[in-house]
Amino acid sequence: MATKIVNKEIRYEGGREGLLSGLGIFYLVISIITCFVAVVLAVLALNRNPDESLLWIALGIGSLIPGITSYIFCGALADVLRLLKKLAGEKYGGTVSQPDLMEYQTTICSQCGTSVNPSDSLCYRCQAVFKTNSGEQAIGEDSK
Ligand SMILES: [Zn+2]
Repeated sequence: MATKIVNKEIRYEGGREGLLSGLGIFYLVISIITCFVAVVLAVLALNRNPDESLLWIALGIGSLIPGITSYIFCGALADVLRLLKKLAGEKYGGTVSQPDLMEYQTTICSQCGTSVNPSDSLCYRCQAVFKTNSGEQAIGEDSK
C-alpha cells in the first residue's frame, strides 16, 4: 500500500526583485504585441502603399529591441537584488537565473594532445595509431 506524502514548502514571492522581473516581462509582452500589430498593419498596407508597409515592419522590429533589452536588464537587475539578499541571508522572491549547461566533446590524441576527429584511426601529427572505439577514454567532470 502506498501512502501519500505531503510536501510543504514556503515560497516567498514578491519584493522589488519580483516587481522588476514582472516589469521586464511586461515590456517584453508589450513589444511583442506592438510588433504583431505592426506586422498586421504592414500586411494591410501592402497593396495600398508598399512604402507604408515597410515603415510598419521597421516600427515592429524597432519595438522588439527595447522590449527584449528591458526584459534582459530588468531580469539582470532582479538577479543582482536576489544575490545581494541571498548573501545577506534575507529572503528573496523568484530564483536566481542559472546558465544553460552545454556539453562539448573534443577528441585528442593521447600521445601528442592534438585534437583529432573521432572517426580518425591515425593521428595526423604524430602518426600514432588509435585503438578502436572500445579503447577510448573519457575525461571530464561528467564522465561516470
Ligand atoms: Zn598524436
